[in-house]
Amino acid sequence: MSFLLSCPNCGPRDVNEFAYAGEVTSRPAERPSVRELATYVHFRRNVAGVQQEWWFHRFGCETWFRAERDTRTNAVLATEAAHAEPDGQAAPAEAAVPDVPAV
Ligand SMILES: [Zn+2]
Repeated sequence: MSFLLSCPNCGPRDVNEFAYAGEVTSRPAERPSVRELATYVHFRRNVAGVQQEWWFHRFGCETWFRAERDTRTNAVLATEAAHAEPDGQAAPAEAAVPDVPAV
């Protein structure tokens, strides 16, 4: 399925220009328990609805940004450039998916 995603630098582009890097998550506190660490590494909310996601414009300006997308309809409600969060969370270091176009 294809849809438009609006890069904060380049504007609306086909989603195949981007790499999806998953839900925006919160890092556990310093010295997390095994359960907290396992939850952070392995579990995602996987909502059927609106969620915050990381995206990378791999065939464009190579910028990380956040998007608010409805997973049921692929409607992108908002995008914003990546920046450090108050809790120190920053954009992922690399894309979590291989460098192949989405279908
Ligand atoms: Zn871009």
